[in-house]
Amino acid sequence: MRLLLIEDDDPLASALTEGLREEGFAVDRFATLSAARAAASTTTFDAVVLDRGLPDGDGVALLREWRARCADTPVLLLTARDALDDRLAGLDSGADDYIVKPVALQELVARVRAVVRRARGRPQPVWTHGALTLDPASRQVTWRSQPVELSSREFSLLELLLSHPGQVLSRSRIEESLYDWSSDVGSNTVEVYVHQLRRKIDPGVVKTLRGVGYTIGPVETLS
Ligand code: CA
Repeated sequence: MRLLLIEDDDPLASALTEGLREEGFAVDRFATLSAARAAASTTTFDAVVLDRGLPDGDGVALLREWRARCADTPVLLLTARDALDDRLAGLDSGADDYIVKPVALQELVARVRAVVRRARGRPQPVWTHGALTLDPASRQVTWRSQPVELSSREFSLLELLLSHPGQVLSRSRIEESLYDWSSDVGSNTVEVYVHQLRRKIDPGVVKTLRGVGYTIGPVETLS
């Protein structure tokens, strides 16, 4: 899952970036509205974590721009303590949630997961697909009631495919979600992760549509 973090407080932004990556997120971090605007115009993010007081303006101004052109990426605002008016203005401008500074990493992670679940129409905390279950919070996968050991990227790929059942995702869309700009992307890594998922779970867990992309195997074949 790929996040856009917009925060100009360098120690805070660095700590959040590191913590979120440890939790398996791909994170791109910017300190200004203009850099964030440019990043969001070329890349699909799964969620945005947005500070309000930024060197070139208020984060809510950017949020309003996105919502005005119907960009529906979930947005969490970072707000100062005791700033009720700020929070209300943010929510009224289309934020999905807010978190009060100082930010507790685990709370941020839980709130990001919650807004993404709602945005994808999968509000259940644990996803079931045939005999496969995936718990985004604990990052646990079971297949026919047995735990499956996955690497962080294998898990992220399975989570992405499961959150878009019935949809075919192109390799570039998958790469966009699995890697941030600091990652070193090999030329065939998506294929390698797909191979590992088939080996560790079931050959039918991921379907390849040649030249188009990948989709989660249908429930009937994964029971
Ligand atoms: Ca700030």
